Amino acid sequence: MKETDIIAHLIKFLGETPRHDKDLIMGSMTTLPDPLSIYAYTLFIHTNSADSIVFQKIHELEENLIREVGESLFKADKPGGMITSGGTESNYLAIVSALRKYGRKTVVAPDTVHVSVRKACMLFGCRLELIPSRDKPVDPGQLEDYVRKYRPSIIIVTAGTTERGLVDPIKEAGEIASKHDVWLHVDAAYGGLLVPFYYEKGIIDENLAFYEGVTSISVDFHKLGRAPIPSSLYILAESRNMDYATYPVEYMPSGQTRGLLGTRPGASIVATWTVWKKMGLNGYSEQAIRLHDLAILLYEKLRTINNITVLEPILPIIVFKHRKIPSHTLLRSLLDHGVYVYKAPTFKALRIVIMPHISENHIEMFIEKLKTILDRLEEEG
Ligand SMILES: *Cc1c(COP(=O)(O)O)cnc(C)c1O
Repeated sequence: MKETDIIAHLIKFLGETPRHDKDLIMGSMTTLPDPLSIYAYTLFIHTNSADSIVFQKIHELEENLIREVGESLFKADKPGGMITSGGTESNYLAIVSALRKYGRKTVVAPDTVHVSVRKACMLFGCRLELIPSRDKPVDPGQLEDYVRKYRPSIIIVTAGTTERGLVDPIKEAGEIASKHDVWLHVDAAYGGLLVPFYYEKGIIDENLAFYEGVTSISVDFHKLGRAPIPSSLYILAESRNMDYATYPVEYMPSGQTRGLLGTRPGASIVATWTVWKKMGLNGYSEQAIRLHDLAILLYEKLRTINNITVLEPILPIIVFKHRKIPSHTLLRSLLDHGVYVYKAPTFKALRIVIMPHISENHIEMFIEKLKTILDRLEEEG
């Protein structure tokens, strides 16, 4: 094909793909990346961060970024870690490292844990013992009972569950992990750039930090960090725990590689470093507050609609349903009208995540569309 024809196709494909700025993408945890970080990404598009010798500069930026985020956001002392492709890979890495370190095959987590943990246990042949928690943060007493009973290599708790935005008690989990000598991983893929700020402002009671006993924390920068996909930070309280995520590769100059992938984008590291420098703690704090305010606005508006029940938001996630219309019917209708929301299966409800691209205008548009759709569905009976 001629280049001009290919471009014509691309423009057509783009027109057929929803966009965050003009459409109603309200359920997924994606958003528009920061323009400067996109620029940084394209500059370094040729780099492979699996190779720390040829692309040594990239490796330095990665170390630098991990240290800065670990120290300033999560109060670590001398953190280590690496950038991965997402919350999924970060969870895999924590699990694989803990299995390697402690040699026991069990993982303990509340049942609100992200699906990637179930998937990891299928892939790596570990046993997952789930603590029934459903719509609450895990109870520390129950967590300790499970740790005593199953002697896991790793406990995984979450700061900002994907479905409802619950924050597990991190400090107490740390005490339990420390006492029983197990790895504690905190999955903060979504909540990592919210919880520390909300705690500081008194919006929530639970903080997220490297308390005693917390081994690793992961936070996605391709969600609220506004870096291009793929980008997640896997941060360790002690850099020597990176040994458990390091593997020999004899043909490469460094003789070793870190993490679960082979070749991976150095561009992600540079782009994430860029957006972190641009936003800073203040920028992310302001963003977090703005998202909170919008979530409250949407919550208040939904509450005024007949027959809608809505859960009070913890983080900027809104879970709602209609008392008579089944959620799958409502989801279908919303999707048909170009409103992209997700499901909250535990509550047989639907879910909206207020991401940085969402404005008051989006919320008005959504409420209008929802009302129109409900009128029609109610008429149809
Ligand atoms: C999004 C998310 C994940 C998965 O992250 P990906 O970047 O999609 O791989 C894991 N855990 C939590 C809590 C998440 O919100």
